[in-house]
Amino acid sequence: MKVIDHINEAKDTLFSFEILPPVKGKSIESIYQGIDPLLEFNPKFINVTYHREEYIYKERENGLLEKIAIRKRPGTVGICAAIVNKYNIDTVPHLICGGFSKEETENALIDLQFLGIDNVLILRGDPIKTESTFRPHRKGHTYAYQLVEQVANMNRGKYLVEDVDLEPTDFCIGVAGYPEKHFEAMNLKTDLLHLKNKIDKGADYIVTQMFFDNQKYFDFVDACREIGIDVPIIPGLKPLKTLNHISFLPKFFHIDYPEELSYELLKCKTNEEVKQLGIEWGIKQSKELKEKGVPCIHYYTMSDSKSVRAIAKEVF
Ligand code: FAD
Repeated sequence: MKVIDHINEAKDTLFSFEILPPVKGKSIESIYQGIDPLLEFNPKFINVTYHREEYIYKERENGLLEKIAIRKRPGTVGICAAIVNKYNIDTVPHLICGGFSKEETENALIDLQFLGIDNVLILRGDPIKTESTFRPHRKGHTYAYQLVEQVANMNRGKYLVEDVDLEPTDFCIGVAGYPEKHFEAMNLKTDLLHLKNKIDKGADYIVTQMFFDNQKYFDFVDACREIGIDVPIIPGLKPLKTLNHISFLPKFFHIDYPEELSYELLKCKTNEEVKQLGIEWGIKQSKELKEKGVPCIHYYTMSDSKSVRAIAKEVF
């Protein structure tokens, strides 16, 4: 079933979460161990992230360096199919522009359709670690809106090479939104106009980047509505867990902590203290969002469901 249909049918705020494929060579059991403790909160869909290749350099015997492409977390599509099979819960594979030609994307979408997966979250992807800016595949897409357009075209029966009698697909399309602006955008206004373009091209709903200040989300929703974005906007929350998060999350995800939270974080001396604060803050944020009637709250578990479970127990 499509995410948008789950949202339209829901009488109350839905619970959903995102998992990462395990590191290459690890068993799928670790995925199930992350999902099992969250089943009692009745997730209607589970997102599975996509991780593109990274480059490493290995020294050869002659002293020269060999550049090797590796994918540390493959398996997004297989994991989605395995989850549907084991739990009968809908899945949302993330599909990115980076590293894919249009034809590879088309073939991946055909696989997803054969597997009965109705949803995709469409993203551009970040630059790979060794590059400072995003470089698209030679035969791929530069921006997420182009990938949205490709999926929307397939939903209309329009494939890359047009032929007679092509079966239309029927994917529900989600896209990313940034309450605190995407880090490359010139300003919030242009970022919002680019977001609107993704909706105009055929996206059905938005999931936000993590934020720790609900007011930023409320302002973002208002700004979206003002420019005519009328699709559901699902807030994304991440529980803080380690001392390292204090500087890593603002640096990597380009988000700010509200003052009140930053004062509390400054008092933390151990990972355990940060984790407890992360749970308390997550409960506070979630309760307010639920009271305001958001369609769904989406949790970034980063494959560790303990904190999300502690939050969900108080909220759902
Ligand atoms: P876009 O919508 O293409 O936007 C990228 C930048 O280009 C923005 O600054 C935008 O303002 C600008 N822009 C858009 N259109 C134009 C235009 N026509 N002209 C000029 N500028 C333009 N990454 C992964 O690799 N795998 C994942 O699984 C993954 N999951 C994510 C899930 C969520 C909910 C979120 C919020 C992010 C996720 N990401 C993931 C990260 C995401 O790929 C990065 O944030 C990426 O840098 C931007 O992706 P996007 O789809 O928002 O890009």
